[in-house]
Amino acid sequence: MHELPVVIDIIKVISEEAKKNGIKKVNRIDLVIGELSSIIDESVQMYFDVMSENSVCAGAKLYFEHVPAMLKCVKCGKEFEHRKSFVCPECGGESVLIKGTGREFYIKSFDGE
Ligand SMILES: [Zn+2]
Repeated sequence: MHELPVVIDIIKVISEEAKKNGIKKVNRIDLVIGELSSIIDESVQMYFDVMSENSVCAGAKLYFEHVPAMLKCVKCGKEFEHRKSFVCPECGGESVLIKGTGREFYIKSFDGE
């Protein structure tokens, strides 16, 4: 359910940007989603299809780019992408989450005519 306000925001921002740039129809929107943001692609697309009706975004296709959380080793300080474990690939030490990473959600770009 938390995708709905996010989708309304996307449509609002893109509609404003499209207007500024003289775009009448948006064909494609690229979104970046952090792996910890708990936003589900399918839900975003579903809400988008409903909410974008009668807007410049109607019929646009969404593309999702997923970005991993970043970790920092407490032992050697190496920063690396979170994959499956929190173990440092460099020294085997333990790592902690770098604050704010993995929770991204933003519009990377959009295309229209
Ligand atoms: Zn390390």
